[in-house]
Amino acid sequence: MNIQEIVSILVSAGIEPNESAKEVKMLIEHFCNYSTKDIIMGKPLDYEKLKVVKQKAELRAKTRQPIQYIIGSAYFMGNLYKVTPSVLIPRDETEIVVSNAINIINKNSLKTILDIGTGSGCIACTVSERCKCSVTATDISEKALNIAKTNSENLFQKIEFIQSDLFEKLDNKKYDMIISNPPYIPKGTTLQKEVQFEPKTALYTNDSTGCEFYEKIIEQGKNHLNKNGFIVFELGINESEQVKLSFEKNGYINILIEKDLAGIDRVISAQIS
Ligand code: GLN
Repeated sequence: MNIQEIVSILVSAGIEPNESAKEVKMLIEHFCNYSTKDIIMGKPLDYEKLKVVKQKAELRAKTRQPIQYIIGSAYFMGNLYKVTPSVLIPRDETEIVVSNAINIINKNSLKTILDIGTGSGCIACTVSERCKCSVTATDISEKALNIAKTNSENLFQKIEFIQSDLFEKLDNKKYDMIISNPPYIPKGTTLQKEVQFEPKTALYTNDSTGCEFYEKIIEQGKNHLNKNGFIVFELGINESEQVKLSFEKNGYINILIEKDLAGIDRVISAQIS
């Protein structure tokens, strides 16, 4: 058995060839403790190592659960995060949201940041690492918060964690910026098999537009933002118009929309007047 044969296990299960090769590389790095360089240089894998990688590839092929859950970790903006099926796997798109937020924070010297629905904690940890500000992170899920706490400790980031459904447990606290990548998939949408392993509460809204959480955060956020404070959201597909309208109706100004690499409206930011 060789690596090529293991890649073909994934390809036969319908996973795209480039992705299959990338995933087998991830399995080797993780389960054999090989560096990318080891793999490129063709450092040999003994039978035992190949066996483990093959078993994991078979698990991936059979169940179609995301490779990050099999490995138990995922990279986000250069840092490695622990992930389990209790948290959403950090996405490339979210990196654009965080970069945007960081630019606003640094430009305006913002001091207090709230990350709503922190999941793995990837947004909160990155902001805490790259900005001079204090970060509070919430999630409705206790299991998610525990993962986020572990990640913040592993990355040496001091973050305040609060278990809360949106603003419920935040009393009258106010922040300079609210960042959120809330659930934005309209109820009833059928998703690709891999995504079905991710927590439903992190993915779906209870409404048919996917805008439920944006609207709630925009409305309730008015009581939790300092003067001239910002909101930055990750957007789901075709949701920018409705979210923009909601910002306008609630009196927010300086509404900006940014596209992702695929040309999809992905980030929206606005400021309270
Ligand atoms: N904040 C986390 C992320 O961006 C989780 C988001 C979520 O669960 N909707 O990956």
